Amino acid sequence: MGDEFDLVVVGAGSGGIATARRAAAHGAQVAVVERHRLGGTCVNVGCVPKKVMWYASETAATLERAGDYGFTLEGAGLDWHRLRSARDAYVERLNGVYASNLERSGIALYRGEAQLRGPRTVEVDGRRLQGRHLLLAPGGRPSWPQIPGAEHGIDSDGFFALDEQPRRAAVVGAGYIAVEIASLFQHLGTETTLAVRRDGPLRGFDPLLREALGEALAVDGPELVTGLTPAACERQGDGTLALVGEDGRRLEGLDTVVWAIGREPATAGLGLEAAGIAPRSDGAIPVDAYQETAVPGVYAVGDATGNDFPLTPVAIAAGRRLADRLFGGAEGRHLAYRDIPTVVFSHPPMGTVGLSEPEAAAEYGAEALRCYTARFIPMNYALAPQAVKKRTAMKLVTVGEREQVVGVHIFGEGADEMLQGFAVAVRMGATKADLDETVAIHPTSAEELVTMR
Ligand code: FAD
Ligand code: NDP
Repeated sequence: MGDEFDLVVVGAGSGGIATARRAAAHGAQVAVVERHRLGGTCVNVGCVPKKVMWYASETAATLERAGDYGFTLEGAGLDWHRLRSARDAYVERLNGVYASNLERSGIALYRGEAQLRGPRTVEVDGRRLQGRHLLLAPGGRPSWPQIPGAEHGIDSDGFFALDEQPRRAAVVGAGYIAVEIASLFQHLGTETTLAVRRDGPLRGFDPLLREALGEALAVDGPELVTGLTPAACERQGDGTLALVGEDGRRLEGLDTVVWAIGREPATAGLGLEAAGIAPRSDGAIPVDAYQETAVPGVYAVGDATGNDFPLTPVAIAAGRRLADRLFGGAEGRHLAYRDIPTVVFSHPPMGTVGLSEPEAAAEYGAEALRCYTARFIPMNYALAPQAVKKRTAMKLVTVGEREQVVGVHIFGEGADEMLQGFAVAVRMGATKADLDETVAIHPTSAEELVTMR
């Protein structure tokens, strides 16, 4: 016999910690096992350090445009080491906050690699933990291309570990991470190429957002190279890297190549078979709408489930609902994976909730849709030279006679902070008339969303 708990959680990332703390708040005896730093991907090599870098690059953009408002600035160069050490110190403080939160919640923390030894039995560092319930929340890790010389590149974890700012970089991939890292680099002063294998990044986002992003990239980068499928990465005689495409095209003189081609569930070596769980071919843990695996008493949340929204608040929301159901008497409580708002921290950022126009057409039929769009130069560019102006783009996707809003898509300054409230409206079934009845806030970009014709 080992240590016994109501709930044993594998992984102290977004999903694992949120579930553990909610379960403990309901009075459950909880253990959490973690092999690395507390907080998981989001806190250590994801959302948090990324957002710090994004703020830094927004600051660079503001400094660049200060002249428009009459300022004269000199010597405003970036000290990469200072930025990195301040960022890392902040992340370390958060690691400490997570440790004290677990302690305050009365949760037992086991440090080490968890291995499943039975349906609800976990071994860590030679100790056996037995759970009435077991939650698997091991998260994901970056995928790497299987091409010669891939090892010369780095992944997003490596991006956060960079000691020196590269002079010239290529970021390979077309998702959130590729767009964000390429934009960060470029706006912090690294000459950057974003290399995608198809016609552009962020396939699946509303076409208006993709078009607006393309326009903004053309204004001040990063340079977008399309149709480049990586075939090799070569170290040159002068120490720089060359990225070679399948068609023979070469991007040369690179200090850094970042692979940002997706993420995969971190389930290898966990011992799923010992728990009786058959993973999907990509390693994901199959779960039903209640986060339950095929094995009674064993659940999974977060990126390792391969759900359509591998985001921190999604892992947290699914986990808290599960804990409410298991320990709080909230029968049937679970997360509906729909109308989930999300932001890509590009420059400027873009946000989306609900259905894109093509998705809505597929679900409701094109004839049931009415879309409203707005394109305009935000007022912050009023005094700027024409060449640097980036247009904001907005779209409302509505369906049916009532014109219920089923999608809100925003590209432009402030999109990240604008979207949350509109996500509430979409969830509540707001119609175009509800938005029209709302008095605008002037002068803002957001007012366009309640004044569209
Ligand atoms: P994780 O947070 O990855 O936690 C899993 C934990 O389990 C890890 O700490 C790991 O060490 C531990 N673990 C795994 N296996 C074992 C084992 N066998 N034994 C012990 N411990 C184990 N999402 C957003 O919402 N907004 C963003 O801005 C955002 N930016 C991102 C930027 C980047 C660069 C990346 C990579 C991701 C970003 N994400 C963002 C996604 C977000 O980080 C993830 O969706 C989220 O962290 C998933 O939470 P999780 O609980 O599933 O897993
Ligand atoms: P994504 O799955 O979003 O995107 C990866 C893309 O890279 C693919 O869609 C594909 O696009 C392209 N790709 C795949 N294989 C290759 C290849 N061999 N060569 C070139 N391109 C390739 O993965 P990310 O790693 O960007 O992000 C993972 C998840 O993390 C995101 O989905 C998001 O949920 C989360 N995240 C959230 C953030 C936020 O909220 N701001 C920030 C960062 C991550 P195509 O097929 O079009 O070529």
